[in-house]
Amino acid sequence: MLALQNIVQPTQSNRAVYLMQSFIDILQKPTVFANRNVLSPHFVPIQLPFRERELEKIMVCVSPALQGSRPRNIFLYGKTGTGKTACVRRVMSKFEALGSKAKVAYVNCRIYNSRYKVLQKALKGFLPEIEKSGFGITFMYEKMLDWIATDGKFLILALDEVDMVKDLDELVYSLTRSNDEIPKGGISIIGISNNLSFKDRLDSRSKSALFETELVFAPYNTQQLAEILLQRSVEGFKQGVVSESAVSLAAAAAANETGDARYALRLLLRAGEIADERLAPDATSTALKVTDKEVDAARRAVDEDVAKEAICTLPEHQQLVLLSVANLTLAGGSRYAKLSEENNDGFLFSGEVYEEYLHLCKVHAGEPRSARWYREYLHDLEMLGLITMIDSGKGVRGHTRFIKIGFSAPEIKSIIERNIQEKNFAREIADVEGASG
Ligand code: ADP
Ligand code: MG
Repeated sequence: MLALQNIVQPTQSNRAVYLMQSFIDILQKPTVFANRNVLSPHFVPIQLPFRERELEKIMVCVSPALQGSRPRNIFLYGKTGTGKTACVRRVMSKFEALGSKAKVAYVNCRIYNSRYKVLQKALKGFLPEIEKSGFGITFMYEKMLDWIATDGKFLILALDEVDMVKDLDELVYSLTRSNDEIPKGGISIIGISNNLSFKDRLDSRSKSALFETELVFAPYNTQQLAEILLQRSVEGFKQGVVSESAVSLAAAAAANETGDARYALRLLLRAGEIADERLAPDATSTALKVTDKEVDAARRAVDEDVAKEAICTLPEHQQLVLLSVANLTLAGGSRYAKLSEENNDGFLFSGEVYEEYLHLCKVHAGEPRSARWYREYLHDLEMLGLITMIDSGKGVRGHTRFIKIGFSAPEIKSIIERNIQEKNFAREIADVEGASG
């Protein structure tokens, strides 16, 4: 037990004493966690159950680099949370442990999303001079070739979420061309993606290079997710605090979504946090605390966070369409339905939502998009679960669509209005900077 009087000198102000005490209180609060890090999405466990075949295939694919020949490129795809990143990370650490002269460089292309940024990030791990920004792409490229050519080394680039690279054709072309330019050694690519639609955008040469070998990651089923969760909860939580049925419930919920292990782990972590909030200050660590109730509450909280994240990444006009739905819902529902006394169960008419959207455009965004785009936006919002739609069929006011909000209208309104405010603020700053520079 930390004794406050031993840490705080009598000369310090009362405020400092108070702040110090609140940290000590926080650190001494009872908790269900043994090691929260184990439940983080970035943690890579030593064992990856149900991925033995995939791990083996990636290892077989990269192993020629250890014997002096160039590995084939390999492309991994599958839905999010199917263990692609974890498998590549695991193979990389095994590979590095061998201490060979071949290198594997990992780049998350969601963050490093251009040929320049990818090369800079990948190379600076072993060519520190690249760290200084301002070098042109040709310089980096030459440096990379020099490094490879010196005793014929191999470089394996793991490009995670590779579909995010804006000039992917150019990147793949630069990398594959290097192999023709160097007599010994070479470059290989491990491409990773959740989303295959980008394949159609690639030119045929980079497509065939990138997809030299393919490996599909299937979604996990309930039993598999339960085992993954169990493995993590043994390390992540104190003994005996998580009920078996809570693990099964979280696994079933995640399997019901898309078989996403990341979502399953997020549920379990949040359930643990909720259990912590509910713990009495004198709670013992061995009593059962994470139960079905905490998982249910976690599910609501996580789904809300997911919806918020989805709203914040929507383009501006889709946010305005969604804000129109929220505004009309908050104003008491459909005006048309009231006029015609049709009982529409909280559904709005697509036409009145469009009118509200036109009005919001006048206030916030200038030029509105056409009705055709509006229908596309509705479709996108429905895919994200932010609205639901039903078709009126023929008869009711011709052919129209009814729209209902999929998540709390006041929440949606406040999130989007905040986004608009921030955007206006950013614009004002840009204007001021533009005017002064
Ligand atoms: P992806 O890259 O396919 O979206 P990740 O590899 O990031 O998925 O996995 C998401 C989370 O689930 C990570 O925390 C990861 O450690 C965990 N995970 C995925 N597959 C397994 C598995 N087979 N065993 C243990 N944990 C796993
Ligand atoms: Mg990933």
